[in-house]
Amino acid sequence: MALQAIKYETGSLQLLDQRLLPFDSIYLDVPTPQIAWIHIKDMVVRGAPAIGVTGALALAVDLTNNKSRGSSFSSVQEAVSYIFETLDYLVTSRPTAVNLADSALKLKAVTNEAASKQGSTAVSVVEAVVAAAETFLEADIAANRAMGAYGAKALLEASQAAGKGLGSGRLRVLTHCNTGSLATAGFGTALGVIRALHEQGKLEHAFCTETRPYNQGARLTAFELLHDGLPSTLICDSAAASLMGSGQVDAVVVGADRVVANGDSANKIGTYALSILASYHKVPFFIAAPSTTLDPGLQNGSQIVIEQRPSEEMTHFRGQRVVKEGVQVWNPSFDVAPAALITGIITEKGLIHKQPGDASEFAVRDFMLQNGLLTAEASVSGKEEASTTSSQLKRDFLQLFTETVHAYILQIPMLQQLVGPVSTASTWKVREVGDGNINFVYIVEGPAGSLCIKQSLPFVRCVGDSWPLTQDRSRIEVQGLVEAAKHAPRHTPKVHHFDSKNAIIVMQYLAPPFIILRRGLIEGKVYNSFAEHITEYMACTLFNTSTFKLDADSYRANVVKYVNSEMCLLTEKVIFAEPYIKASNNRYSPQIEDQVQQLQHDAQAKVAISILKDKFMHQTEALLHGDLHTGSIMVTESETYVIDPEFGFYGPIAFDVAKIVGELLLTLFASYGQEMATPEISRKQQQVWILSTITTIWNSFVSKFQKLWSSTGLTGDSYPIAVHGPDAPAGSSSLQACQQAYFERLFQDVLGFAGAIMIRRIVGISHVADIDEIADVQARVSCERRALAFGKVLLIQILQQSIQSIEALISEAENAANN
Ligand code: ADP
Ligand code: MG
Repeated sequence: MALQAIKYETGSLQLLDQRLLPFDSIYLDVPTPQIAWIHIKDMVVRGAPAIGVTGALALAVDLTNNKSRGSSFSSVQEAVSYIFETLDYLVTSRPTAVNLADSALKLKAVTNEAASKQGSTAVSVVEAVVAAAETFLEADIAANRAMGAYGAKALLEASQAAGKGLGSGRLRVLTHCNTGSLATAGFGTALGVIRALHEQGKLEHAFCTETRPYNQGARLTAFELLHDGLPSTLICDSAAASLMGSGQVDAVVVGADRVVANGDSANKIGTYALSILASYHKVPFFIAAPSTTLDPGLQNGSQIVIEQRPSEEMTHFRGQRVVKEGVQVWNPSFDVAPAALITGIITEKGLIHKQPGDASEFAVRDFMLQNGLLTAEASVSGKEEASTTSSQLKRDFLQLFTETVHAYILQIPMLQQLVGPVSTASTWKVREVGDGNINFVYIVEGPAGSLCIKQSLPFVRCVGDSWPLTQDRSRIEVQGLVEAAKHAPRHTPKVHHFDSKNAIIVMQYLAPPFIILRRGLIEGKVYNSFAEHITEYMACTLFNTSTFKLDADSYRANVVKYVNSEMCLLTEKVIFAEPYIKASNNRYSPQIEDQVQQLQHDAQAKVAISILKDKFMHQTEALLHGDLHTGSIMVTESETYVIDPEFGFYGPIAFDVAKIVGELLLTLFASYGQEMATPEISRKQQQVWILSTITTIWNSFVSKFQKLWSSTGLTGDSYPIAVHGPDAPAGSSSLQACQQAYFERLFQDVLGFAGAIMIRRIVGISHVADIDEIADVQARVSCERRALAFGKVLLIQILQQSIQSIEALISEAENAANN
């Protein structure tokens, strides 16, 4: 029995948690649509058409168990409403997944039909829906099995014709990447072909490549082969030539993400190399792909846009850097096997043949016409896979690469002039510097000047396309930069150009000696104008975008303009939820497990973080930067710029202030950690500087904010002049009282949020280099323990309010970091 990612029996659904492979194989129970929703969202189940099948089966299980197969509904109408609502809800787990939406539509049609039958009952409607859901699972596996059967036959024939194979007629087959049960509802595509050969007693041996750099072959395919007991061997990608050269491969079969009109096939990087090797060694080379991956809209493979994968896949191993910083990386996710080197293309509808009399091209269109694929509705099975891959490959936006940045700038005369005359274009230097986790950043330098170009792709850079993320963040970022430039022009890079279609921002390049503040601090430096600059930035941007300054109408229009739901969801997840639960994203040193356990079982901490999350979600006070940590600030001795406001939204003012305070506190704790490992005089000076900087930041922020509040004529609608102005009944004394109450509350909120920031950086997914880079493990762990403990002290301030002044905070922080 092949490994199945989805196990289903009426009344019980289980999903294999693919993220854990190959370390473990854990099936998770899915008793309700709510649990299915979370698993789809969290990528426990992924790949097509597994998602569509999961949604349908989760409903079937729910109806069977929780609704007693329909007998708990009091009427047909109640059953119909429930089914429709549940389906609509399930679709929101991955709104872009066409396959899931398709499953939902089909089940709704089945529901309607069953309900309109004469004599229908809630039970009969539910039974029809459960039966239909079960057919989705069967249909997907059946399609894969058909592909397996066609493929096994084709491989056997072609190998024999090429004089390959053993005397027994058994084949040794090489595959690449993962195309098995873990990508489908079961059996697999290319791996399905290998399984079919095995079932027929025709498989001598299966070889799978590691599939660098993400190792899907090593993690998933090798696991599946072992699990199913197929004779198999894992090889390095680079060992394929030797393996073929030594006569140990009779056929190659791989999957495809996209097959275009002439048969050129895009697939995981390394496929092209295998096709060349196979051709040289006269080994038949097959593509196995569902018919939904056929794309006759493109003539040949050169028209396929290939995306880059995050460079961290090569420079890091499980979060640890293993390649020296500064090394350039080229990491394309796919390549294209040319039709001329492909022996045959296997689909669930049969084998696609070459054009008559032309061995260099396949007759993809003819095949599709013959099989009714060009006009017919795509089947449920596999449709989502096609749509996902086309979003990966056929993009309607231009993705920049170091090599294509020149051409992009040359298209826009205004930008070209900023870099240099067209005739000098070949001398322009382009490099990618994105050290952030999320986006790509290119620097272009030419004789006339330089530019910084930032592009947001539809996923999180450091994770890849398994973590989709809205490109709308680029709009938020550019709006945020433009807005901040109105209020704090000395601290905001100038925006030269925004290309909304391609999510590209072209802005002022902050050349060295500008350095990311975090980097400078790690090197032990101090920046004496920083506190004044950052408080000017915060006070001006926050005050001027709130109802302290704005009338209610403009404020509300702004709140809408800055709705940034996906980025807020990310913050809500990684700061306000995951550190307090056992979450797979969490990452912390094993030595502090006891302390993390304590935190996660601490009711007070949970109450505090919930109060803070509530404030984060409901206090739409001002346009925040949203991610104001020391990695979002670039400094020199005399200047300070704030970059990267892509998390901008209307939220609590305290959150921005707290990010900077919390991050500086982490730097303080790290500085003591560094000192513990290597005592240096500069660290001592830095500690003093950090403490006094935090004090100045608070005092100076309050005084600047208060000054704006008192001096801008009370134009805003929350504290209007009519109520608090000098001519109002109570004179300006009411204003003073309001200000005092406001800053007292703000202070407590800042402490609470700062605590949450410290905790997430020790326990959650995203850490700070200040601490992570402390080389001495003991020093680092001790620093993490202290920072986590102090983070909790600050967090619960929101309940206890025992720290009442900035001086008290500083003295507590100094003690906690040092002892
Ligand atoms: P992300 O959103 O991915 O975190 P950032 O906006 O933080 O990206 O930029 C990543 C890196 O690119 C920064 O750490 C910095 O080194 C560099 N960078 C970004 N903007 C500029 C700029 N305007 N001038 C110079 N370097 C920049
Ligand atoms: Mg960012």
